[in-house]
Parts: sequence; C-alpha cells; structure tokens
Amino acid sequence: MAASGEPIPAGKATLIGAARYRRFSYGDNHPLGIPRVSLTIDLIQAYGALDEEREYLIGRKASDRELTGFHTRDYILALQRCEALGKVPHRFREQHNLGNFENPWFPGFFSTPAVATGSSIQGAEEVLAGRMAFNPAGGMHHARPDQARGFCYLNDPVMGIQRLRRAGKRVLYIDIDAHHGDGVEMAFADDPEVVTCSLHMDTGYAYPFAGGQATDTGVHGNAVNLPLPRELNDTEYRHAFHTLWPRVVEAAAPDAVVLQAGTDILRPDPLGKFTVSTQTFLEAVTAIRDASPRHPDGTPKLLALGGGGYHPLVLARCWAGVWAILSGRELPEALPESGRELLAEVDWDMDEDEEWYPGLFESRLDPDLSGPLRPEVEAAVEGLLRDHPLLRGA
Ligand SMILES: [Zn+2]
Repeated sequence: MAASGEPIPAGKATLIGAARYRRFSYGDNHPLGIPRVSLTIDLIQAYGALDEEREYLIGRKASDRELTGFHTRDYILALQRCEALGKVPHRFREQHNLGNFENPWFPGFFSTPAVATGSSIQGAEEVLAGRMAFNPAGGMHHARPDQARGFCYLNDPVMGIQRLRRAGKRVLYIDIDAHHGDGVEMAFADDPEVVTCSLHMDTGYAYPFAGGQATDTGVHGNAVNLPLPRELNDTEYRHAFHTLWPRVVEAAAPDAVVLQAGTDILRPDPLGKFTVSTQTFLEAVTAIRDASPRHPDGTPKLLALGGGGYHPLVLARCWAGVWAILSGRELPEALPESGRELLAEVDWDMDEDEEWYPGLFESRLDPDLSGPLRPEVEAAVEGLLRDHPLLRGA
C-alpha cells in the first residue's frame, strides 16, 4: 500500500459534467444564477488541462431508488410534480421549503440536481474503481430528507457517501465551504463509520444560523465542527486547517475521503465573510489529497465535490486549480489568453471587485491575504483538539 508523502500518479482523476449546466439556472436574481460548472470546465479546457477521452465523464441522473436512500418519497414526487407543472403549488411551499426566494422553481429544478446527484454517485464509483473524481456540480450539503435548504434541493454528498458505505467503506467527509455542512452531518450523525468535519463561518452570524458549534460532536463523536470568526485571513485559515486536518484524518482512519469544496471562503465572494485567497484554498485541497488513503498504485481515494461559491470568476479559477491538483497537472499562474476572454465575457458586475481587478483576469491566484493570527482563532483550534471526543486521544 502506498503511503501519503509518495508522489501522486497523474491521469488518475475523472471530471464529471453535463451539458445541462449550461442551459439551466436559478434565475437572474438568484445568487446561483451565474455560470459555474460550465465556466469551470471551459477554463480548464482553455488551459488544455482535460483529456476528454480519458478523463471526462458525462453525469447521469440519480434513480428514484438512489434518491429515496436519503430523501422521502413525498419530497421527490413533489419536486418531479413541480418540474412538470412549471410552478410550485401552494401546498408544497411550506412542506418542502420550495418556490421561495431561497429555493425557487426553475426549469429543470428536479432534473438538474438529480444529475448532480447521479454524478456524485458516479464519482464514488470512480473512487471504488481506483480513480479520484471531481463533480463540480455537487456539494449541495444543506438539503434535508424532506426539504430544500440553502439553495440545495438534493443532498448529493449524502448519496455519494451512501454509495461508498454500501461498498463497506469508512468515510471521512471534509467540508471547507464557508457554511456549516449541516445536512450531511445530520444524515450521518448516528453512523459511526462516517466522520464529518466542517470548518465554517460561525452560525452565530452566518447561515444556517444554528448548529455547527465545536460542542456539536455527533452521537458517536463523529462530527467535528470548527466555527470561525468573520474576516478570517490566510494566516488564520492556514493555521486552523493545517492544525486540525492531520489530527482529524488520523483519528478518523477513513477508507475514502469526500471533500466538499465550496469556494465561498474566498475574499471576493459576495456571500462569504472570510478573507481567504485562492492559493490558501488550494493548499488545503492539496493537503486533503495527500492525506487521503491510497490505492496500491498510489492514487488517493478522494471524491471532490463542488459546493457554494457565488463569484463566478473566482470560482472558476479556483476549481480549475482543484482539477489540476487531482489530475496531477501543474497549471501556470497566468491565465491563458482564451481563459481571460472567457472570464471577461461573463455578465458580472465588477464594481465591488475594483481592488481585485485586474489580477482577476491575469492570474488564477490572488494577492497575499496574510494577516495577524487572532488569539480567538488559536483558542478555538486548541479548544477543539483538547475537548473533542474523537480528537483528544489522537
Ligand atoms: Zn456555502
């Protein structure tokens, strides 16, 4: 068995996408009404960093049976019914939290998440078959069995993890999205074979406004939560992540790792309150890859999913970097000419990005965002390692 620290074989990752992500959106006034997966894949191709024949898989729709492995039959039927009707009937609004600003109706509002979910299950199967996988349309970590939550209709991370569990694997889920991975934590709270770990904006000031505290440790001590303050800078994120992660992975001793890689911790994100750079984000992803358990040929057993991220340009740059880390490529920092054009064509109000401009279009990395390490951040990390039932003995 190859150990962490040994080189990662190249060309052992699969990118999962689908043409439908170009066509459907949440609508013009929704934070997710922006190009995300399609822009990411286009930027990867602008870098010439995708061998479509060997590395690309078209996502399939999850079956009703797969979906009802987590969601209720009533909820799935309601989503299907609304999609066919072209609207959300009144009776479903409260019951399933649909048809409001948060979780609006849009064309394909069942089919598109169903493909994103099928893709996470395919990704799990790629991992079982000896490859890494990246499903940028996945990572919808807030959805509940019977309800949409926080722009998430179907909880694809849960169903991807369930696929790994059906193969008898012990799973570590690491969620670096700016928001607490509440739906996934809840789904596996009483399964000691799944450890969930989330670093996020403290729910005292950020969505979902409850849970995700360091003292929320799951039924078996299998939930690890690190809530963090506003304006978290690169120095603080590095300290928190790289102190916590090795301890979590050692204590969890997983057979496979599932990463939720939402990009809303990045500085220019309009919904996130952290001040983290793309390079710091990617250092965390590299550490996750390197500490994941390996197949005999050295391939990490790692499934990466997308997640939040509401600044399309920053998101596409970052996820292109995630793909490079998995597929074993070194991408130049400078964006290729066609990549710059691609980003410049996106309909996006740049006013709030003034200080970021023009680096946004020139490099896939950001200005350095190091800063002071606040004692409260240090204390939060120390306290978690000292008091958490899973970590204190590790
Ligand atoms: Zn988020």
